[in-house]
Amino acid sequence: TPVIGVLALQGDVREHLIALAAADAVARPVRRPEELAEVDGLVIPGGESTTISKLAVLFGVMEPLRARVRDGMPVYGTCAGMIMLADKILDPRSGQETIGGIDMIVRRNAFGRQNESFEAAVDVDGVPGDPVEGVFIRAPWVESVGAEAEVLAEYGGHIVAVRQGNALATSFHPELTGDHRVHSLFVDMVRANRTPESL
Ligand code: GLN
Repeated sequence: TPVIGVLALQGDVREHLIALAAADAVARPVRRPEELAEVDGLVIPGGESTTISKLAVLFGVMEPLRARVRDGMPVYGTCAGMIMLADKILDPRSGQETIGGIDMIVRRNAFGRQNESFEAAVDVDGVPGDPVEGVFIRAPWVESVGAEAEVLAEYGGHIVAVRQGNALATSFHPELTGDHRVHSLFVDMVRANRTPESL
């Protein structure tokens, strides 16, 4: 069974732990470099990306995160987590850094004031069956992606789900819906990445 961490500095950590367990992974919170070293994959939750960024630096886990993502550890970011996986933020707050890993430019709080939070059906490539219920909460969208990044979903003409190699990101929050299909897709990515001996 793959062991998947949830970066537990700020945000909706608990919901991801529950969703991962429901998708047949062993899930545990990760705050420190030693804890990061022990997981096969990592989820970066929704929350507030500037806060997560600053706490990651403070806890000494930012560089280890970048190193593991560069080495190909599977990662999945939702909302603020998507922002953390972007190589570039269009409108960063001062002191805001990202882990990077996906060649994309994200716009924070992109869906605007009138629609700060809403739900919409989203068709995600790689998720079988009906569209997923996309919960968007002050969500980013992806302005543009590089050649290596694969667009998995769009909503309202904007990119809201992207995959590049072992990195997956969604603007929305599947961990809040009780539908674990996107988490299952990620757990499958983690399984596929493990060496045959560890299966
Ligand atoms: N707007 C938040 C940010 O910029 C993200 C919101 C969320 O994760 N639900 O980090």
